[in-house]
Amino acid sequence: EAASVAATGTVRSTCPYCGVGCGVVAKPDGTVAGDINHPANLGRLCSKGSALAETLKNDDRLTQPLIDGRAAEWGQALDLVAQRFRATIAEHGPDSVAFYVSGQCLTEDYYVANKLMKGFIGSGNIDTNSRLCMASSVAGHNRAFGADVVPGTYEDLELADLVVLVGSNSAWCHPVLHQRLLAAKAKRPLRIVAIDPRRTATCEDADLHLALRPGTDVALFNGLLAHLADQDALDHGWMAAHTEGAEAALAAASAGAAQTAEITGLDPADLARFYAWFAGTPRVVTVYSQGVNQSSVGTDKVNAIINCHLATGRIGKPGCGPFSITGQPNAMGGREVGGLANQLAAHMRFDQPEALDRVRRFWRAPNLATKPGLKAVEMFDAVLDGRIKALWIIATNPADSLPRAARVREALRACPFVVVSDCWPNDTTALADVVLPAAGWGERDGTVTNSERVISRQRPFRLPPGEARADWRVLASVAQRMGWKDAFSWSNSAAVFREHAALSGFEKGGTRPFDISGLAMLTDGQYDALAPVRWPVRWAGDAGGRLFGQGGFATPNGRGRLVPTPFRPPATRTDEAYPLVLNTGRIRDQWHTMTRTGRVPRLLAHTGEPRAAVSPTDAARLGLTDGDLVRIESVHASTVVRATIDAGQRVGELFLPMHWTDEFCSAGPAGRLVSAALDPISGQPELKLTAVRAQAVPTA
Ligand code: SF4
Repeated sequence: EAASVAATGTVRSTCPYCGVGCGVVAKPDGTVAGDINHPANLGRLCSKGSALAETLKNDDRLTQPLIDGRAAEWGQALDLVAQRFRATIAEHGPDSVAFYVSGQCLTEDYYVANKLMKGFIGSGNIDTNSRLCMASSVAGHNRAFGADVVPGTYEDLELADLVVLVGSNSAWCHPVLHQRLLAAKAKRPLRIVAIDPRRTATCEDADLHLALRPGTDVALFNGLLAHLADQDALDHGWMAAHTEGAEAALAAASAGAAQTAEITGLDPADLARFYAWFAGTPRVVTVYSQGVNQSSVGTDKVNAIINCHLATGRIGKPGCGPFSITGQPNAMGGREVGGLANQLAAHMRFDQPEALDRVRRFWRAPNLATKPGLKAVEMFDAVLDGRIKALWIIATNPADSLPRAARVREALRACPFVVVSDCWPNDTTALADVVLPAAGWGERDGTVTNSERVISRQRPFRLPPGEARADWRVLASVAQRMGWKDAFSWSNSAAVFREHAALSGFEKGGTRPFDISGLAMLTDGQYDALAPVRWPVRWAGDAGGRLFGQGGFATPNGRGRLVPTPFRPPATRTDEAYPLVLNTGRIRDQWHTMTRTGRVPRLLAHTGEPRAAVSPTDAARLGLTDGDLVRIESVHASTVVRATIDAGQRVGELFLPMHWTDEFCSAGPAGRLVSAALDPISGQPELKLTAVRAQAVPTA
């Protein structure tokens, strides 16, 4: 890898921020531009992508391993990590250790981490911060399709006549996809419906904004399904040929349909307009994102949406489909390798005995895990109560980003052994026993998969600072020191990728849409030159398109499942003591806990501090004017920030950006306030809904 870096001129790579997965071109003069040949963005970049070059300064990067805060040699650090993990497993068993990884990891990093934990250590305890991002979509896809598959492509948004954006501020969070949508709308009639409790920037571009009560999306889409049935707008022929479960799903939807306006808080006329548009428009794409997923009823929301598409055959055809958009650059790649605690590997599951046997033989794994491990929030609870005694965190900052962040810090302090691999120091590295410096974007060599199943290369064009190394190499070095030399002996990332691709096609049985075995024979040179390619890639030259347009779902009988989703209110409730709803999320120019974007002055120009958005009615009641300080308090913590009076906020609801940490602002992370109510199926936390109270803070 170092040799190829030394020889590089212009290098094509992939943006490391959101799940749109835009192609970029890094030039020898140090600038970064959009790649006009990349199918995701065709040359476009958003504010974050266009500032990538400014994140490449090495000023405060981690450059050397640290043991107890002191500089150490790599050999010492790797020996210590291997010895402590081995000793912990010997004394307390494989489930006493865990990995918490990230949608920032490359597929190759993810593959090696998953193989080590599930195949060789013998525990399912590897989970990812993608649990916070799209786990409810994964669970919903599995229930409906029999596998975790996004059926459509970005082009479908341009081909649709109606695009429904649910809980998705795409103008700020997936900006290049939003630009593509607006460009299509400028050329021909295309309606946009935005469903979001807040009037976001995205809603400004919509023909209809439905500001529903938080957590009531299931009622809204159940009402739509009932309306489609009433209006004889279901595709009975398609359903009969390709689906099952329609009767029960329709019964559940119809049972609550009369209360839809009351439950959602929406104007019946607006509801009627949306339902009529959906019923009368053959080409509809429903895009959903964190507002759907980050909920204690997130999986039901996903299935309520998918039900409407399965019932009308609006799936897998040009301009049609339910479409989950991932937050992180490689959330999809992590799902492919099995980086979630409830997945095994290569879209195979723990509840499939033949899959366990297949993976065991492919890996020649002595201790294959046979049951799911702990999901993100549960994992840190297990650290705190002593079940997890050694934890390795890679490319994520849970001390700020997980719900009840103060409790996560307590868990990290209590844990006997914590390893953190990252590029920059942060609030999580500060609590580690061993810190391992990681190669970052522009230095790493591997692949990522975006929201439309397109695998793209991240290529290196500069050397890592100091002694920083690629995460997969560090994981492999530790695995070898733990005694598993041959199984972790790849010479380069191309070899890791080939093995990952081969596993996806190993002994094909049943219907597994995730199959990239057509890439398993790539030479190193072909891997280097790999152009963006959509899976499935079942043979060399296969280019996966839309899935499920003609049925062929990955369920045992090939039928897509409509799932009954009776409306349940979200787990988090307001009360007299905590009467307001706090919603958290992204702003336009920042990324996660700001470890990269917070270092770029021009990205701070858009919003320089965390400000709580407050409705004019609540502001008047609290005695706040724009810019006043407000204290926001949940049962977990409190913070003081400035208020922005925002007419786009519903009364009784506040919004706070998720990005700021102790490093960047005295207000600290919003994650400290957030509740840890979980979706019982997906384990995804309810980051969009925490009960809080607020009061003005008098200034001297
Ligand atoms: Fe990067 Fe996403 Fe912006 Fe594209 S839209 S440039 S992937 S942050």
